[in-house]
Amino acid sequence: MLVHTSEIPAENHEVLVLGSGLAGMSAALAARETGAAVTIIDKAPETSRGGNTRFSGGALRCPTADTRPEALVEELDQITKGRADRKLAQVLYGRAENDVQWLRDLGAPVASPSVERPDLRGGKMSYHVLGNGYGLVESLYPLLAQRGIACKFETKATEFLTDAGGRVVGVRAKARNGYVDLHARAVVLATGGFQANTEMRVRYLGREAGNLVVRGSRFNTGDGMNMAMALGAQSTGDWGGFHSAVMDARSLPVEAGETNINSFPYTIMVNRDGERFVDEGADFFDVTYVKYGKATLAQPGSVAYCLFDAEVAERELVYCLHREFAPLEASSIARLAKNLGLPADKLQATIDAYNAAVQPGEFNSEIRDGKCTRGIVPPKSNWALPLATPPFFAFPVTGGITFTLGGLKVDERMRVVDTESRAIPGLYAAGEMIGGIFYDNYPGGASLLRSLVFGRLAGSAAAALAKLS
Ligand SMILES: Cc1cc2nc3c(=O)[nH]c(=O)nc-3n(C[C@H](O)[C@H](O)[C@H](O)COP(=O)(O)OP(=O)(O)OC[C@H]3O[C@@H](n4cnc5c(N)ncnc54)[C@H](O)[C@@H]3O)c2cc1C
Repeated sequence: MLVHTSEIPAENHEVLVLGSGLAGMSAALAARETGAAVTIIDKAPETSRGGNTRFSGGALRCPTADTRPEALVEELDQITKGRADRKLAQVLYGRAENDVQWLRDLGAPVASPSVERPDLRGGKMSYHVLGNGYGLVESLYPLLAQRGIACKFETKATEFLTDAGGRVVGVRAKARNGYVDLHARAVVLATGGFQANTEMRVRYLGREAGNLVVRGSRFNTGDGMNMAMALGAQSTGDWGGFHSAVMDARSLPVEAGETNINSFPYTIMVNRDGERFVDEGADFFDVTYVKYGKATLAQPGSVAYCLFDAEVAERELVYCLHREFAPLEASSIARLAKNLGLPADKLQATIDAYNAAVQPGEFNSEIRDGKCTRGIVPPKSNWALPLATPPFFAFPVTGGITFTLGGLKVDERMRVVDTESRAIPGLYAAGEMIGGIFYDNYPGGASLLRSLVFGRLAGSAAAALAKLS
């Protein structure tokens, strides 16, 4: 569409932050601390403020006295098979303890996972924000007004404004009353990934990705990435990859929230043909849930079932985080198969083979207990209990998408770089839209941390530039 620029009203700002999630709010608060005047715009209505952050589980993967930053850098290296940008990973985990303390000092209710989320125990998600993502957003949002940071909702950035030298000097935005040119000395992009854009999902992630349940915000449609790439920004990272989860198949198609079945390691997972397809107990869920969300999506009909028996139910280990979704229950395997529409003989054979393969040993959900199967493929490496005591239960599951992994290339100061690897003056980016950190798999709790650490860094750098200009 051709817009007659002379008719577009203009406003002047100092630091302009696009997006009101954790990356955007961290950037805004940090820029303000540095003395800059800050404005946030977000295309969502105020009631949907906070983007994906609002939907998040609030878990933070942060170094502790026991797990030093270098260990988490190594873990990321291992999980991403050596592809993660090591320098960015060092910045991320090196600054994490300080920045989580900053978040606490701002008033965010950061606690130990055991307080509200016992399911997060055992892994390396060392902190959890009480009230999950909602608690996080609502603890930070009032601070913006208190500190004089203006927020304009229902204001969507559509393109960058640049000067003749290529420096970013603001954005054109579409507000409720029409277009407005928002001039600024520095711009921080924090508009999230493209997971809520079906067209981009299919384009980059493949045909099946059209069926994914979108766990978070409907507003993360890749706008900021597309705007930046149109300007010549360099894309990087795993553009064919995404963060997934094992989701209850009864979830809403978008903004599903925390409908994960994170307790799948204590079940056996079968597909529509009654066959197991993953080592459910390979590790704690925070290391495997991304892979297994994708594995579930790839099953016939993109559906599977997490099965467990009365003995496991008694231990209260298996549940949907969204407690309103109860498991389906049946008095026998045959009846369960009938209710789920699975081939009863095949399911019984799968369970018989599994039960026969379970090795003796002590079950302990708090550690990798080594209680495993022997002689079946795929094995179950930990937490293998026989499925033998009626009644039997099933959660129907599918694959969800949390966020996309490809994004913009930034340097260690969060400056967006162009395709010739030169920083684009005036343009910073943070959070979910940064590429090069996560590939294929993902260590749980690291995305909020990325938004916090990189957001704070981007905001400080943008404010410093604005003050110089
Ligand atoms: C259900 C769920 C559970 C999760 N649990 C965890 C967890 O426990 N731990 C963890 O580390 N991570 C978790 N994540 C991931 C994590 O929450 C996100 O990756 C992170 O919060 C992203 O923060 P962000 O600030 O980069 O983006 P967001 O919080 O998504 O904010 C982006 C904002 O940009 C706005 N926007 C988009 N386009 C435009 C535009 N053109 N103009 C203006 N504004 C625009 C959007 O409306 C949105 O408000 C979870 C995600 C989901 C969905």
